[in-house]
Amino acid sequence: MLSSRFFWKLYAGYVLLVVIAVTVVGYLISERIATDMIADTERALHVRARLLEPIATPFLANGDYADLQERVRVLGADVATRITIIREDGIVIADSDEDPMIMDNHGARPEILAAREDGTGMSTRFSRTVAANLLYYAVAVRQAGRLVGFVRTSLPLTAIQGRIGRVRRLVALVGFGAAAFALVLGLVVARRVTAPLAAMTTAAESIAGGEYGHRVPAASRDEIGLLGSAFNRMAGELQERLATITEDRTKLLTILGGMTEGVLAVDGEQHVVHLNAAAGRILNVSPTDSLGKAIWDVTRVRQVSDILERAVEAQTDVNDELTLEVDGHRRVVQLHGAPLADGQGGLVGAVLVLHEVTELRRLETVRQDFVANVSHELKTPITAIRGLIDTIVEDPRMPAETQDRFQKKIQSQSIRLATLVTDLLTLARLDAAEGLLESEPVDLRDVVRATVDHFRADAEERRVNLVAEVDGDPVRVLGDGEALGLLCNNLVDNALKYTPEGGSIWVRLRANGAALIEVQDTGIGIAAEHLDRIFERFYRVDKARSRELGGTGLGLSIVKHITKAHGGAVTAESTLGVGSTFRVRIPLEPQTV
Ligand code: ADP
Repeated sequence: MLSSRFFWKLYAGYVLLVVIAVTVVGYLISERIATDMIADTERALHVRARLLEPIATPFLANGDYADLQERVRVLGADVATRITIIREDGIVIADSDEDPMIMDNHGARPEILAAREDGTGMSTRFSRTVAANLLYYAVAVRQAGRLVGFVRTSLPLTAIQGRIGRVRRLVALVGFGAAAFALVLGLVVARRVTAPLAAMTTAAESIAGGEYGHRVPAASRDEIGLLGSAFNRMAGELQERLATITEDRTKLLTILGGMTEGVLAVDGEQHVVHLNAAAGRILNVSPTDSLGKAIWDVTRVRQVSDILERAVEAQTDVNDELTLEVDGHRRVVQLHGAPLADGQGGLVGAVLVLHEVTELRRLETVRQDFVANVSHELKTPITAIRGLIDTIVEDPRMPAETQDRFQKKIQSQSIRLATLVTDLLTLARLDAAEGLLESEPVDLRDVVRATVDHFRADAEERRVNLVAEVDGDPVRVLGDGEALGLLCNNLVDNALKYTPEGGSIWVRLRANGAALIEVQDTGIGIAAEHLDRIFERFYRVDKARSRELGGTGLGLSIVKHITKAHGGAVTAESTLGVGSTFRVRIPLEPQTV
């Protein structure tokens, strides 16, 4: 309160007013009283002189002054006034306070000179006779029109001045008291006026600082009270509106933040006003650091600032596609820019939606490659079969031996075709049913043994030593028995295909936290640069050799798919010319862990 400038301004003005008013009024009153008192004294001296006039006249006219001095002394003492009777020539013949014999000639005294002229005269002067300031009043005494002398009455001014002084002191005291009272009252009033204003200022400052719950007391019914309640209403409304705006904004930010599409908005000067998390991720920038900065400085991607500019200039939606290189990874992003208008339709900036389509594009490429591969793989045996059949049909005289050879070729090509189609169908089935394979307890010992049994004759024929190393205890997993059989078959089939005569193949099964199927061979091995890619569809290290051996390039891809569908992982280890080891790890059935 005491720090309120308004309070001090108001109070200082009030103090000044009170002090001036009291001083002026006090001064005027005391002056008035002093003037009145002096006038009263003059009147009293005049009356007394007039009353003395008839008494003094016979003495002055006759020139007989016996008894006069005594009477004047008694009278003067009675009315507490100095009385002096002066002859026309200025000689004092009686004086109530002094012996006239020793008094000077009074003819030249100002009051006497004035009375001689005008009949009455007044003067204020220091009297050496009584040694005090006196107010003199002289009246000319005439006898039959002839001036015979003067009657002079006088009173000491000290008495009047003492009275005036007392009056002035009283006026000053009353004025001071009134002023003090008025000042205290003013303090209270100023406080009452400024206190609500100060409270409103504090509240307004708090509200401006974000504390919207602040209110001011508004009990009085005067204008200040009304102002207070209007202020409170305004603050309440502001709080409500802000709450709504904040809620809407939070909702909007949550929605924008949760979007997989990147959203960024710029103002008319191309400064970022919003950039959601997805946009930050796609463009590899920090959303919080970007706010308020020029879009070009934030992204350094010409296409992004261009599309925003184009959207504003053309006032229409603009689309583009952008390829970014972020941390060594290529990102393909679809851009959709649109102008941003305010409520009145004025352009205030632009918004850009970024949709990352890298994976989509990759899948498209994979699909296109796959289709091209499939067509090519199918075309080869079909062309071969057609050629052989055409030759047979066109040459009826073909020797039976050649025909037989051709027919065998047709048979092998059709087997290849069938294998290819079967593998493709298996892959298609696995693709479609990812995660939806049969889920039943399967003892992998049965699966591994069945596979080894299946290939035993083959192995013997190729003079390859096929060994099964299976634990005594059951190794149970949850899964699809048929698919797991196919997985083992493919691995052993490969091992047989790529292991020359006299080699060995070990098929091992262990439970070591997870089920582990290991197929190791002493075959041709795989060079390190191919090892990463052999699980890709149609990837073959040596195409011609694979074809010759009846491979489709899909076997390991199927193995990978099946392993993944069982929540496991497959790895390959190989040394060129020494042999390869494939390891499949699948989680055990929960209760057997
Ligand atoms: P394919 O039908 O050609 O065998 P796969 O997908 O089963 O196709 O295998 C892909 C490629 O991996 C093969 O072409 C072959 O080059 C290589 N490969 C797979 N298994 C072995 C192995 N045990 N030893 C050497 N190379 C192998």
